Amino acid sequence: MLYKEIELEIAERKAWALRRQLGIPNNRQLWVLACMDERLPVEEALGIKEGDAHIFRNAGGVVTDDAIRSAMLSTNFFRTKEIIVINHTECGMMTACGDFIRKALEDKGIDVYNLQIDPALPELQLEQGAFPKWIKTFSDVDEACIEQVELLRNCPLIPKDVIIHGYIWEVESRTLRRPYERLSERVNTAEAMSSDRDPYHLLQPCSTEEAKMGEKKAVKATP
Ligand SMILES: [Zn+2]
Repeated sequence: MLYKEIELEIAERKAWALRRQLGIPNNRQLWVLACMDERLPVEEALGIKEGDAHIFRNAGGVVTDDAIRSAMLSTNFFRTKEIIVINHTECGMMTACGDFIRKALEDKGIDVYNLQIDPALPELQLEQGAFPKWIKTFSDVDEACIEQVELLRNCPLIPKDVIIHGYIWEVESRTLRRPYERLSERVNTAEAMSSDRDPYHLLQPCSTEEAKMGEKKAVKATP
């Protein structure tokens, strides 16, 4: 019966339009913190689609007061059960330090120490000297990713049963990886390839050079 299909479509449209009023969570019950960089396609990176997650983006994909505010609302009131942080290689937040940015703004005549960082909330003030820290630049994307996960895990505004993980999006290969698991660095030289593998699970070496390498590894592995 055609009317059944029409009724289903009407019900689906209603659930989509009124999902906040009806208490329907996003499809994956997921909150994502990601950098604003245009080379980071969040949905593609995670294999999700529209409706699957609340996606929060800022410069760096770092935990800020507004990130906390959004994560707190999503996890406490919109039934979100999982958080994923995505940082990425060649992030602009690694190209300058906070003091450089402070100075560049001061050179433009901006008094960074008498700023209303939230014009709608004058009570929110930065302590003297805190502006460069507020910018939240970083120098190592893997370290930064782990730090954001820890900050969220330790945040009292986010329920303890929320599952939190962080990943790095490699803009050069368009793939997601775990922090510090840089597979691309382990495929180009023999030394890198033999860095930490288990010799007893290797394929049989096929040349004398490789055989020697295998022996060396076996010796190295013997306590
Ligand atoms: Zn970035």
